[in-house]
Amino acid sequence: MQTQDNLILNVQHLEKRFGENLVLRDIDFQVRPGQVTSIIGSSGSGKSTLLRCLNLLEDPTGGDILYHGQSILDAKFNVNKYRTQVGMVFQSFNLFKNFTALENCTVGQRKLLGRSKEEAEAIALKNLEKVGMAPYRDARPDQLSGGQQQRVAIARALSMDPEVLLFDEPTSALDPEMVGEVLETMTQLAKEGLTMIIVTHEMAFARDVSTNIVFMDQGVIVEQGPAKEIIDMPKQERTKAFLTRYT
Ligand code: ADP
Ligand code: MG
Repeated sequence: MQTQDNLILNVQHLEKRFGENLVLRDIDFQVRPGQVTSIIGSSGSGKSTLLRCLNLLEDPTGGDILYHGQSILDAKFNVNKYRTQVGMVFQSFNLFKNFTALENCTVGQRKLLGRSKEEAEAIALKNLEKVGMAPYRDARPDQLSGGQQQRVAIARALSMDPEVLLFDEPTSALDPEMVGEVLETMTQLAKEGLTMIIVTHEMAFARDVSTNIVFMDQGVIVEQGPAKEIIDMPKQERTKAFLTRYT
């Protein structure tokens, strides 16, 4: 049994309603350093809402999210600092259209972390190299393929030195031939020990790269555990039915 003190995130009885619509109910899960957690489930099951709550893009309506034991919902909690520590990569990349790849990777570092231009550029280049995009440092998003844009978005997120990276269906907006390069980049980050939470429909990736899987349906966690156990030996009927459709 592992102790509480090495938890990065501890989600407790999390609830989210939009008006009458109860979208997340009694969500409990934990994230430890180096874990890669894949969140799987049908469209509309609440996966994005859960990630958005973790990043405080949505305000939970119940329960709690502890970051190193501290509630991120506390009025005194430093949300801006937290968002540099728990970064997000979106399905639609969300790069700044008028900035080059390099500028996309330096702007947050300069504004939010107060790094000098030189330092920010050195860190950005290191991360663009890591995702194989250094040769495109001066390209603007519209000059890049979707897969390349997503890799720049990952380099941008890495440049903030996050403790955890959240990914919301990072390959869903990509043409099929570009999915592999992004999954490869994420696999490499997993091997380097980066803590990640990934909403994905890529079941082979979820099985082989994640340490943990959370299966959601209709706003609840139906089943969670070690990745290979959940994919190869699901216990719940709803998990089995979902996996039959996806694998
Ligand atoms: P998933 O990412 O698993 O497809 P979502 O988290 O996007 O699911 O959505 C879960 C449910 O919450 C859906 O029924 C959706 O319509 C609802 N929902 C999501 N965002 C909002 C919002 N901003 N306002 C109202 N309802 C929302
Ligand atoms: Mg979603």
